[in-house]
Amino acid sequence: MADPYSVPGITDINKDHFVKASALRGFVKACAIRSTDLCRQAQEYHNMTPSVMCALGRFMTGSLLLSENMKNPTDTQTTIIKAEGPIGGMTCVCDSSFNCRAYPVVSRIEGDESVNVKGAVAGGTLSVIRDIGLREPYGGQVELKTGGIGEDFTYYLMASEQTPSIVALGVLIEKGKIKHAGGMMVQLMPGYDEKDVDYLEKRASGFPDYTYFLDEGFSPAQILDLFLGDPDMKYIEGAPVSFRCNCSKEKMSAGLATLGKADLEELASDEKGIDTECRFCNSKYHFEPADIRALLKENQA
Ligand SMILES: [Zn+2]
Repeated sequence: MADPYSVPGITDINKDHFVKASALRGFVKACAIRSTDLCRQAQEYHNMTPSVMCALGRFMTGSLLLSENMKNPTDTQTTIIKAEGPIGGMTCVCDSSFNCRAYPVVSRIEGDESVNVKGAVAGGTLSVIRDIGLREPYGGQVELKTGGIGEDFTYYLMASEQTPSIVALGVLIEKGKIKHAGGMMVQLMPGYDEKDVDYLEKRASGFPDYTYFLDEGFSPAQILDLFLGDPDMKYIEGAPVSFRCNCSKEKMSAGLATLGKADLEELASDEKGIDTECRFCNSKYHFEPADIRALLKENQA
């Protein structure tokens, strides 16, 4: 007999991955992610205090779930939270193959010992910008609902994309280290009826935290099954997910080239050259004064 939890595209359920399922006569699309490894990777890059670690982990997971409907290899999605709280904000960029890169504005909050994501984020806005090869990127922005991130994505999907959704995100920290991370997004598709809404509300009420199930050894596919309780649920696809930065000296140089002439002249006047650092992965790139002068020349050409 085939494994009831085998999902096309997934070879190792003990590594980070995404799964998508369809249920309730096709009127529900459900996606789930295990993001433990990529959250640990982000922690290596950004050395965050507990609330920041949790906030960024939830934010990356929610952003990846949201990015699942991008199709073309060059599509990108940028999600930005501007926060009034001490975290300052977060940025996450996803490609169409479930790779993401992200950073918090402030990595370490003073006195941040136990997890308090809402306290770290407080109020602010959530913006989603999609670049899918149209003339202009498009997107939407909402005020943060609670700062807990999951509720904020739920609210964004309803207010900006008119899609009733349940988004649950979690990062479990034990002894200062990330033990599990993941989340799910369950959405009603056009044509659903009120009974489907009631059904999902009942399933959601009292459903434990997503990371509780990861901690109990359930895979994302199994968690979707537990949540939906629909014997006709079908797994549609799966894919590995990861933290991956695509920075390079060329890209950094292209960024520098957008500076004005006066700024570039000032940078070129430092005979030691300048060091730039990628905000997503901390990679450092050194530019000699001659490199900067070459950019100035190109700008004038
Ligand atoms: Zn980078």
